[in-house]
Amino acid sequence: MKPVPFVYHAPRSLDQAVSLLDELEGDVRVTAGGQSLIPMMNLRVVRPDHLVDLRYLDALSGIELTDTHLVVGATTTHRTIEKSPLVRRVAPLLREMASNIAHIPIRERGTIGGSVALADPTAEFPLAALMLDAEMTLSSVRGTRTVKADEFFHSALETELAEDEILTSLAFPLEANRGGSAFTEFSRRKGDFCVAGVAVVVRLRDGRYEAARIGLCGVSDRPVLSTIAGQLAGERADDATTNRIADAIADEIEPMIDGRATVADRRDIARTLVRRTLPVACERAAAIAQ
Ligand code: FAD
Repeated sequence: MKPVPFVYHAPRSLDQAVSLLDELEGDVRVTAGGQSLIPMMNLRVVRPDHLVDLRYLDALSGIELTDTHLVVGATTTHRTIEKSPLVRRVAPLLREMASNIAHIPIRERGTIGGSVALADPTAEFPLAALMLDAEMTLSSVRGTRTVKADEFFHSALETELAEDEILTSLAFPLEANRGGSAFTEFSRRKGDFCVAGVAVVVRLRDGRYEAARIGLCGVSDRPVLSTIAGQLAGERADDATTNRIADAIADEIEPMIDGRATVADRRDIARTLVRRTLPVACERAAAIAQ
Protein backbone atom coordinates (compact mmCIF):
# COMPACT_ATOMS: atom_id res chain seq x y z
CA MET A 1 0.00 0.00 0.00
CA LYS A 2 0.98 3.62 -0.40
CA PRO A 3 0.40 6.49 2.05
CA VAL A 4 -2.40 9.00 1.52
CA PRO A 5 -1.13 12.23 -0.10
CA PHE A 6 0.79 14.55 2.24
CA VAL A 7 2.92 17.69 2.03
CA TYR A 8 6.64 17.15 2.69
CA HIS A 9 8.67 19.80 4.58
CA ALA A 10 12.46 19.79 4.98
CA PRO A 11 13.35 22.54 7.49
CA ARG A 12 17.03 23.58 7.74
CA SER A 13 16.95 24.77 11.36
CA LEU A 14 15.27 23.82 14.61
CA ASP A 15 13.52 27.22 14.64
CA GLN A 16 12.02 26.47 11.22
CA ALA A 17 10.98 23.00 12.31
CA VAL A 18 9.18 24.12 15.49
CA SER A 19 7.54 27.00 13.59
CA LEU A 20 6.15 24.50 11.08
CA LEU A 21 4.74 22.41 13.93
CA ASP A 22 3.17 25.55 15.35
CA GLU A 23 1.72 26.94 12.11
CA LEU A 24 0.65 23.98 9.98
CA GLU A 25 -2.90 22.75 10.31
CA GLY A 26 -4.23 19.20 10.26
CA ASP A 27 -2.30 16.07 11.23
CA VAL A 28 1.34 17.20 11.33
CA ARG A 29 4.08 14.65 12.10
CA VAL A 30 7.82 14.87 12.34
CA THR A 31 9.93 12.07 10.95
CA ALA A 32 13.57 11.22 11.62
CA GLY A 33 14.64 7.78 10.37
CA GLY A 34 11.19 6.91 9.03
CA GLN A 35 11.66 3.27 10.06
CA SER A 36 8.44 3.19 12.07
CA LEU A 37 6.44 6.13 10.72
CA ILE A 38 6.75 5.32 7.01
CA PRO A 39 5.55 1.70 7.40
CA MET A 40 2.66 3.05 9.53
CA MET A 41 1.86 5.56 6.76
CA ASN A 42 2.09 2.86 4.08
CA LEU A 43 -0.37 0.74 6.06
CA ARG A 44 -2.48 3.89 6.50
CA VAL A 45 -2.50 3.43 10.26
CA VAL A 46 -1.48 7.10 10.33
CA ARG A 47 -2.50 9.62 7.64
CA PRO A 48 -0.56 12.84 8.16
CA ASP A 49 -1.42 15.94 6.13
CA HIS A 50 2.13 17.25 6.65
CA LEU A 51 5.45 15.51 7.24
CA VAL A 52 8.29 17.55 8.81
CA ASP A 53 11.59 15.79 8.13
CA LEU A 54 14.30 16.32 10.78
CA ARG A 55 17.11 14.77 8.77
CA TYR A 56 18.69 18.09 7.66
CA LEU A 57 18.98 19.47 11.21
CA ASP A 58 22.67 18.75 11.81
CA ALA A 59 22.48 20.23 15.32
CA LEU A 60 20.21 17.35 16.39
CA SER A 61 22.74 14.67 15.46
CA GLY A 62 25.91 13.65 17.29
CA ILE A 63 27.34 12.40 20.57
CA GLU A 64 29.14 14.61 23.09
CA LEU A 65 30.73 14.12 26.48
CA THR A 66 30.42 16.80 29.16
CA ASP A 67 31.84 16.64 32.70
CA THR A 68 28.65 15.02 33.93
CA HIS A 69 26.67 13.62 30.96
CA LEU A 70 26.82 11.77 27.69
CA VAL A 71 24.61 13.86 25.41
CA VAL A 72 23.12 12.15 22.36
CA GLY A 73 21.33 14.17 19.69
CA ALA A 74 17.84 12.93 18.88
CA THR A 75 18.55 12.14 15.22
CA THR A 76 21.67 10.12 16.00
CA THR A 77 21.15 6.71 14.43
CA HIS A 78 21.08 3.42 16.31
CA ARG A 79 24.12 2.33 14.29
CA THR A 80 26.16 5.45 15.15
CA ILE A 81 25.50 4.77 18.84
CA GLU A 82 26.37 1.09 18.44
CA LYS A 83 29.67 1.89 16.71
CA SER A 84 30.75 4.85 18.87
CA PRO A 85 33.95 4.18 20.90
CA LEU A 86 32.85 6.95 23.28
CA VAL A 87 29.51 5.26 23.99
CA ARG A 88 31.29 1.91 24.41
CA ARG A 89 33.57 3.50 27.01
CA VAL A 90 31.17 5.59 29.08
CA ALA A 91 27.74 3.98 28.45
CA PRO A 92 28.32 0.33 27.46
CA LEU A 93 24.71 -0.60 28.26
CA LEU A 94 23.44 1.90 25.68
CA ARG A 95 25.76 0.36 23.08
CA GLU A 96 24.72 -3.18 23.93
CA MET A 97 21.03 -2.28 23.72
CA ALA A 98 21.54 -0.47 20.38
CA SER A 99 23.12 -3.59 18.91
CA ASN A 100 19.98 -5.59 19.74
CA ILE A 101 17.64 -3.35 17.72
CA ALA A 102 16.28 -4.86 14.49
CA HIS A 103 18.80 -5.43 11.63
CA ILE A 104 21.76 -3.31 10.49
CA PRO A 105 19.86 -1.58 7.60
CA ILE A 106 17.19 -0.42 10.08
CA ARG A 107 19.83 0.60 12.63
CA GLU A 108 21.56 2.66 9.91
CA ARG A 109 18.45 4.85 9.52
CA GLY A 110 16.44 4.58 12.75
CA THR A 111 17.20 7.24 15.38
CA ILE A 112 17.28 7.23 19.16
CA GLY A 113 14.86 10.18 19.24
CA GLY A 114 12.41 8.40 16.95
CA SER A 115 12.52 5.26 19.07
CA VAL A 116 12.02 7.13 22.34
CA ALA A 117 9.28 9.37 20.87
CA LEU A 118 7.48 6.31 19.50
CA ALA A 119 7.64 4.62 22.94
CA ASP A 120 6.99 1.07 21.86
CA PRO A 121 6.89 -0.86 25.18
CA THR A 122 9.16 -3.60 23.78
CA ALA A 123 11.77 -1.22 22.30
CA GLU A 124 15.30 -1.11 23.65
CA PHE A 125 16.02 2.64 23.80
CA PRO A 126 13.04 3.66 25.96
CA LEU A 127 14.27 1.10 28.51
CA ALA A 128 17.85 2.38 28.13
CA ALA A 129 16.60 5.92 28.80
CA LEU A 130 14.82 4.77 31.97
CA MET A 131 17.69 2.58 33.19
CA LEU A 132 20.27 5.33 32.69
CA ASP A 133 18.15 8.20 34.08
CA ALA A 134 18.14 10.09 30.78
CA GLU A 135 16.98 13.68 30.67
CA MET A 136 15.09 14.48 27.49
CA THR A 137 15.18 17.99 26.01
CA LEU A 138 11.97 19.01 24.24
CA SER A 139 11.67 22.15 22.09
CA SER A 140 8.75 24.09 20.67
CA VAL A 141 7.93 27.72 19.83
CA ARG A 142 6.95 27.98 23.50
CA GLY A 143 10.53 27.26 24.60
CA THR A 144 12.64 24.37 25.82
CA ARG A 145 12.04 22.03 28.73
CA THR A 146 13.75 18.99 30.19
CA VAL A 147 11.86 15.85 31.21
CA LYS A 148 13.30 12.90 33.09
CA ALA A 149 12.79 9.45 31.61
CA ASP A 150 10.66 8.27 34.54
CA GLU A 151 8.12 10.99 33.71
CA PHE A 152 8.40 10.79 29.93
CA PHE A 153 6.71 7.45 29.15
CA HIS A 154 2.96 7.54 29.86
CA SER A 155 1.81 4.29 28.23
CA ALA A 156 2.23 2.37 24.97
CA LEU A 157 2.99 4.92 22.22
CA GLU A 158 2.07 7.78 24.60
CA THR A 159 4.69 10.16 25.98
CA GLU A 160 5.12 13.55 27.57
CA LEU A 161 5.81 15.07 24.10
CA ALA A 162 3.17 17.62 23.12
CA GLU A 163 2.06 17.77 19.48
CA ASP A 164 4.13 20.90 18.81
CA GLU A 165 7.30 19.62 20.50
CA ILE A 166 10.43 18.05 19.07
CA LEU A 167 12.74 15.85 21.13
CA THR A 168 16.16 17.35 20.48
CA SER A 169 18.55 15.37 22.71
CA LEU A 170 18.94 12.85 25.51
CA ALA A 171 21.45 13.47 28.30
CA PHE A 172 22.66 10.38 30.18
CA PRO A 173 24.27 11.13 33.59
CA LEU A 174 27.67 9.43 33.72
CA GLU A 175 26.94 8.41 37.31
CA ALA A 176 24.07 6.16 36.16
CA ASN A 177 26.51 4.18 34.03
CA ARG A 178 28.90 3.41 36.89
CA GLY A 179 29.27 -0.33 37.47
CA GLY A 180 28.84 -3.48 35.40
CA SER A 181 25.94 -3.69 32.98
CA ALA A 182 24.27 -6.19 30.68
CA PHE A 183 21.19 -6.58 28.49
CA THR A 184 19.50 -9.67 27.08
CA GLU A 185 16.20 -10.09 25.30
CA PHE A 186 13.97 -12.82 23.92
CA SER A 187 12.67 -12.49 20.35
CA ARG A 188 10.89 -15.08 18.27
CA ARG A 189 13.11 -14.24 15.27
CA LYS A 190 16.41 -12.38 15.32
CA GLY A 191 15.79 -8.73 14.46
CA ASP A 192 12.13 -8.69 15.50
CA PHE A 193 10.91 -6.43 18.28
CA CYS A 194 11.58 -8.55 21.38
CA VAL A 195 8.87 -10.21 23.46
CA ALA A 196 10.68 -9.03 26.59
CA GLY A 197 14.11 -7.75 27.59
CA VAL A 198 16.06 -7.25 30.82
CA ALA A 199 18.74 -4.62 31.51
CA VAL A 200 20.95 -4.61 34.59
CA VAL A 201 23.46 -2.20 36.14
CA VAL A 202 25.23 -3.32 39.33
CA ARG A 203 28.04 -2.21 41.57
CA LEU A 204 29.81 -4.76 43.79
CA ARG A 205 32.04 -4.56 46.84
CA ASP A 206 33.79 -7.63 48.34
CA GLY A 207 31.47 -10.02 46.48
CA ARG A 208 28.31 -8.27 47.64
CA TYR A 209 25.96 -5.90 45.87
CA GLU A 210 26.55 -2.27 46.67
CA ALA A 211 23.81 -1.08 44.28
CA ALA A 212 21.64 -2.72 41.62
CA ARG A 213 19.17 -1.53 39.06
CA ILE A 214 17.10 -3.93 36.95
CA GLY A 215 14.74 -2.77 34.21
CA LEU A 216 12.44 -4.63 31.85
CA CYS A 217 10.78 -3.97 28.51
CA GLY A 218 7.89 -5.94 27.06
CA VAL A 219 6.23 -6.66 30.39
CA SER A 220 4.07 -3.55 30.71
CA ASP A 221 2.68 -0.71 28.60
CA ARG A 222 5.98 1.12 29.16
CA PRO A 223 9.52 0.26 30.29
CA VAL A 224 9.68 -0.51 34.02
CA LEU A 225 12.26 -0.56 36.79
CA SER A 226 12.04 -3.37 39.33
CA THR A 227 11.55 -2.12 42.87
CA ILE A 228 12.81 -5.46 44.18
CA ALA A 229 16.29 -4.84 42.75
CA GLY A 230 16.78 -2.31 45.54
CA GLN A 231 16.72 -5.20 48.02
CA LEU A 232 19.98 -6.55 46.59
CA ALA A 233 22.15 -4.03 48.43
CA GLY A 234 24.37 -5.96 50.88
CA GLU A 235 23.39 -9.40 49.47
CA ARG A 236 26.00 -11.85 48.22
CA ALA A 237 26.39 -11.78 44.41
CA ASP A 238 25.91 -15.55 43.96
CA ASP A 239 23.58 -18.00 42.19
CA ALA A 240 21.22 -18.32 45.16
CA THR A 241 20.62 -14.56 45.21
CA THR A 242 20.22 -14.46 41.42
CA ASN A 243 17.58 -17.20 41.50
CA ARG A 244 15.73 -15.59 44.40
CA ILE A 245 15.64 -12.17 42.76
CA ALA A 246 14.62 -13.65 39.37
CA ASP A 247 11.64 -15.42 41.01
CA ALA A 248 10.69 -12.24 42.89
CA ILE A 249 10.79 -10.12 39.72
CA ALA A 250 8.70 -12.69 37.81
CA ASP A 251 6.09 -12.33 40.58
CA GLU A 252 6.43 -8.54 40.78
CA ILE A 253 5.73 -7.71 37.13
CA GLU A 254 2.22 -7.34 35.79
CA PRO A 255 2.69 -8.48 32.20
CA MET A 256 0.64 -7.01 29.40
CA ILE A 257 -1.49 -9.28 27.25
CA ASP A 258 -0.91 -9.30 23.50
CA GLY A 259 -0.94 -11.90 20.74
CA ARG A 260 2.74 -12.76 21.20
CA ALA A 261 2.95 -14.28 24.69
CA THR A 262 0.68 -15.18 27.58
CA VAL A 263 1.06 -13.60 31.01
CA ALA A 264 2.59 -16.85 32.31
CA ASP A 265 5.03 -16.97 29.38
CA ARG A 266 6.14 -13.39 30.01
CA ARG A 267 6.77 -14.17 33.70
CA ASP A 268 8.86 -17.21 32.68
CA ILE A 269 10.75 -15.20 30.08
CA ALA A 270 11.44 -12.39 32.57
CA ARG A 271 12.67 -14.93 35.17
CA THR A 272 14.99 -16.58 32.66
CA LEU A 273 16.32 -13.27 31.36
CA VAL A 274 17.09 -12.03 34.90
CA ARG A 275 18.91 -15.32 35.61
CA ARG A 276 20.99 -14.83 32.47
CA THR A 277 21.64 -11.09 32.69
CA LEU A 278 22.41 -10.50 36.37
CA PRO A 279 25.50 -12.80 36.50
CA VAL A 280 26.91 -11.20 33.32
CA ALA A 281 26.54 -7.72 34.81
CA CYS A 282 28.19 -8.99 38.03
CA GLU A 283 31.12 -10.47 36.09
CA ARG A 284 31.61 -7.15 34.32
CA ALA A 285 31.34 -5.23 37.59
CA ALA A 286 33.93 -7.52 39.18
CA ALA A 287 36.28 -7.01 36.22
CA ILE A 288 35.96 -3.21 36.56
CA ALA A 289 36.66 -3.41 40.31
CA GLN A 290 39.98 -5.28 39.73
P1 FAD B 1 10.34 7.64 12.69
O1 FAD B 1 9.82 6.37 12.12
O2 FAD B 1 10.73 8.70 11.73
O3 FAD B 1 9.29 8.25 13.72
C1 FAD B 1 8.69 7.44 14.71
C2 FAD B 1 7.77 8.30 15.59
O4 FAD B 1 8.53 9.19 16.37
C3 FAD B 1 6.82 9.19 14.79
O5 FAD B 1 5.62 9.29 15.53
C4 FAD B 1 7.52 10.54 14.74
O6 FAD B 1 6.60 11.59 14.60
C5 FAD B 1 8.20 10.56 16.09
N1 FAD B 1 9.49 11.26 16.11
C6 FAD B 1 10.63 10.89 15.47
N2 FAD B 1 11.64 11.68 15.83
C7 FAD B 1 11.12 12.58 16.70
C8 FAD B 1 11.69 13.66 17.43
N3 FAD B 1 13.00 13.95 17.38
N4 FAD B 1 10.88 14.38 18.23
C9 FAD B 1 9.56 14.09 18.34
N5 FAD B 1 8.98 13.06 17.68
C10 FAD B 1 9.75 12.32 16.88
N6 FAD B 1 12.86 -0.79 17.17
C11 FAD B 1 13.32 -1.29 18.34
O7 FAD B 1 13.45 -0.54 19.29
N7 FAD B 1 13.63 -2.63 18.46
C12 FAD B 1 13.51 -3.50 17.42
O8 FAD B 1 13.82 -4.69 17.58
C13 FAD B 1 12.98 -3.00 16.20
N8 FAD B 1 12.77 -3.82 15.15
C14 FAD B 1 12.30 -3.30 13.98
C15 FAD B 1 12.11 -4.17 12.91
C16 FAD B 1 11.63 -3.67 11.72
C17 FAD B 1 11.42 -4.62 10.57
C18 FAD B 1 11.36 -2.26 11.58
C19 FAD B 1 10.87 -1.70 10.26
C20 FAD B 1 11.55 -1.40 12.64
C21 FAD B 1 12.02 -1.92 13.86
N9 FAD B 1 12.21 -1.08 14.94
C22 FAD B 1 12.68 -1.61 16.12
C23 FAD B 1 11.89 0.36 14.90
C24 FAD B 1 13.12 1.20 14.60
O9 FAD B 1 14.02 1.13 15.68
C25 FAD B 1 12.74 2.66 14.38
O10 FAD B 1 13.83 3.23 13.76
C26 FAD B 1 12.39 3.49 15.59
O11 FAD B 1 11.40 2.94 16.38
C27 FAD B 1 11.87 4.87 15.20
O12 FAD B 1 12.93 5.68 14.85
P2 FAD B 1 12.89 6.53 13.52
O13 FAD B 1 14.00 7.49 13.61
O14 FAD B 1 12.86 5.61 12.37
O15 FAD B 1 11.53 7.34 13.69
